Amino acid sequence: MSKKFKVIITDAEYESHDPEKDVLSKLNVELIKFQCRTEEEVIRYCKDADALLNQYAPITRKVIENLEKAKIIVRYGVGVDNIDIKAATEKGIFVANVIYDISDVADHAFALILSLARKILLANKNVKNGKWDWKELQPIYRFNGSTLGIIGLGRIGSAIARRAKGFNMRILYYDTIRREDIEKELGIIYTDLDNLLKESDFVTLHVPLTNETRHLINEERLKLMKKNAIIINTSRGPVIDEKALYKALKNKWIAGAGLDVFEKEPTPKNNPLLKLPNVVVAPHIASASYETRSRMAELVAENLIAFHKGEKPPTLVNKEVLNIRPIKWKRES
Ligand code: NAD
Repeated sequence: MSKKFKVIITDAEYESHDPEKDVLSKLNVELIKFQCRTEEEVIRYCKDADALLNQYAPITRKVIENLEKAKIIVRYGVGVDNIDIKAATEKGIFVANVIYDISDVADHAFALILSLARKILLANKNVKNGKWDWKELQPIYRFNGSTLGIIGLGRIGSAIARRAKGFNMRILYYDTIRREDIEKELGIIYTDLDNLLKESDFVTLHVPLTNETRHLINEERLKLMKKNAIIINTSRGPVIDEKALYKALKNKWIAGAGLDVFEKEPTPKNNPLLKLPNVVVAPHIASASYETRSRMAELVAENLIAFHKGEKPPTLVNKEVLNIRPIKWKRES
């Protein structure tokens, strides 16, 4: 009997792994789950895995160098910033992500915008404490005719633009790639980053975390923003310099921030941003609906199945790996 293909879940917040198990039941797979948080834990528990399924655990060069058998890493999600893609490619390890229906993420970004603009959290707290006073809630910001700036007009950014049309907002966007098709379809305006920050009442971030986008929103750029502006981050924490954001909010350079993601996650309890009344936060839950999470898990397993059959994983990230390791690989028994 051939040895089982050993698949290790490095870490995952999901309680149930039935969706992956259902898909993987076609294979002779041993599926083991850990909750690794550090490089050392990933190395200790995953050394002899054939495949890794990964959510947030760091898959650094050091981890990759210590993986003795792994041939594929599949991430539960779109962003692959926690995986050293270059190191994986050099070692001939396939890296795949999952491209799923991102409408949840766009909805969540809008939920943060709405709760800040309409002061929902403060209103809720006040009314429940017997305080029926609308003056303390001012200013409440109007959407109709206001300007929304979208940074990164990819799948999520364009879903945001579609939602914002419904609120009758003027929409600006900045991206390294100009999307004239969407400009025409939705009547949105392309501009450079600094101008977007100067003109927008609401700014929402939808870029991947890369060397170019790390601290894209820094002190200098926060100073360009309007005093009434609200910034929303559902992309990756390090896209905003948190220290600079704290300064901007504390000194009222801008009016508020909605954060689903943080520079370090979980964010430390003593993160000063958590003390500010004009900050609304969530624990990285933009894609956390049951439907999305289940589908994500199935897609993770489908990538693995394709690889196991000797086919190209449907959402392979490091396509250059095909030059190093031919797609038809033979499993050592
Ligand atoms: P996408 O690849 O469809 O879009 C990203 C867009 O950013 C692209 O249009 C790209 O051209 C643009 N871009 C890249 N680098 C840029 C730069 N330096 N300056 C300006 N634009 C740049 O990705 P997506 O599916 O829309 O997801 C965006 C990001 O959202 C993901 O990378 C992920 O990190 C994050 N995300 C977070 C959650 C969450 O739970 N909070 C869920 C899903 C995705």
